[in-house]
Amino acid sequence: MNTRPDTTALGPTASDAGPTAAPDLLDADHTREPELLEAVRAYAVRILNGLDDRPAAQTPAKHRPVPLPERGIGLKGAMEAFARRWEPGFSGSAGPRYLGFVTGGVTPAALAGDWLTSVLDQNPNSGLDSRAPDLEREAVAWLRELFGLPAEHEGAFVSGATMSNLVGLAIAREWVGERRGVSVAEEGVAALGPVPVLSGSPHSSIGKALSVLGLGRSAVRHVGVLPDREAVDVNRLDEELDRLDGAPAIVVANAGTVNTVDFDDLRAIAALRERHRFWLHVDAAFGAFAALSPGHAHLVAGLAEADSVCVDLHKWLNVPYDSAVQFTRRRDLQTRVFQNSAAYLGPLGPDPDFVHLTPENSRRLRALPAWFTLAAYGREGHAGIVRRDADLAAAFGLRIVMMPAYRLLAPVRLNVVCFTLADSPSAERVAEVVRAVTDSGEAFLTPTVYAGMPALRAAFSNWRTTEADVDRVAKALEAAVPPRP
Ligand SMILES: *Cc1c(COP(=O)(O)O)cnc(C)c1O
Repeated sequence: MNTRPDTTALGPTASDAGPTAAPDLLDADHTREPELLEAVRAYAVRILNGLDDRPAAQTPAKHRPVPLPERGIGLKGAMEAFARRWEPGFSGSAGPRYLGFVTGGVTPAALAGDWLTSVLDQNPNSGLDSRAPDLEREAVAWLRELFGLPAEHEGAFVSGATMSNLVGLAIAREWVGERRGVSVAEEGVAALGPVPVLSGSPHSSIGKALSVLGLGRSAVRHVGVLPDREAVDVNRLDEELDRLDGAPAIVVANAGTVNTVDFDDLRAIAALRERHRFWLHVDAAFGAFAALSPGHAHLVAGLAEADSVCVDLHKWLNVPYDSAVQFTRRRDLQTRVFQNSAAYLGPLGPDPDFVHLTPENSRRLRALPAWFTLAAYGREGHAGIVRRDADLAAAFGLRIVMMPAYRLLAPVRLNVVCFTLADSPSAERVAEVVRAVTDSGEAFLTPTVYAGMPALRAAFSNWRTTEADVDRVAKALEAAVPPRP
């Protein structure tokens, strides 16, 4: 019986000789590292140059696994195998016409920062061995300034907005405990009892975070929204809080909903704290970037009043996955939840190491790509990306209005266009449009349901997108209209 897996699927091996006679592949790669990395660089440049022609998305072909190679094929062989077997099936999500979800691209400086993150391979969880944690602190401080948050807001990098919401809500949970005389971190969530979480149009990640935190998905109380809006009706929120009779609660305010990019009135919500006791968490995953555009900054007025804030960076900052930041005014509660005391990690101190601030222990220096892009392009450069994407969304909204086959479902408030078919917009017909657009390779849009209506979304958050792309996407949509039922 042949016990050696067939590695020929990966291509020719570096040597046909037996394992003992063959040169060590790792040693060989080490010797040729500069030249091999040049080859990788050239390959990366080819991919980047081809982004514009790459299909925005593709329906995945059936996966045919190959066994673990017994003897490898070296870096060059692996790169060739990847280029042949995998890369052609990857999406153009870094490119200009991938408008699904809310998907950012990667600025040149962010890409450089990401490469160097791996080159230097720092672990910024503690400050015992390097200045890397201070770079993260500097990046957090820059981001705080970018979004107009006061110095009381301290922050840390996490992997995404889901994790940022989770950390914010974990601190909120500890705050509720403090009000009730319970330390959840010590005694567990059972000692706390049910916690009401009030929100108008929370993102699905809020439910996930509450599930992880032991508060339960059903802790969410959906507060009524304004007519034809996704923004919470602050009067209804006031009434709901009244009914709690002074019991502490968590309010999740939404700054940028995914369907129609609607914004809760953050100032009005914060003002309710004069009469009610609640922790104000703001999910501003991509909405926080409105602060960079003078024409849109009013949408996030009051963000600074929050107790905790979630902002995604792999969306509109255009850094690669994965990256987000979480801010809070109550670092004391944060360290109570996340402290990881071990003799070798050092004491908490006034400026605690990152190991004590998030669910992670070891972590990559996620801050470096963000630091690079902010250093390279500054506030002005990133404000330019936000303004341009907002302009493109507005222009695309206008194109939708002009097309008889489609109907705009909500005003374009920032960077997302929510629309549907003018004729019989059933889930099936909308799915047909999505499929036809995807198959054309021209664009990628994601379906949704807005106010009970099957719909489509086009989200503009990539620095590469241009007016010519808006034109191509509009034409692809025109061609994708299904025949009348
Ligand atoms: C994208 C998004 C999230 C989740 O973000 P991930 O980075 O995918 O975890 C949460 N909230 C809002 C409003 C979002 O747009």
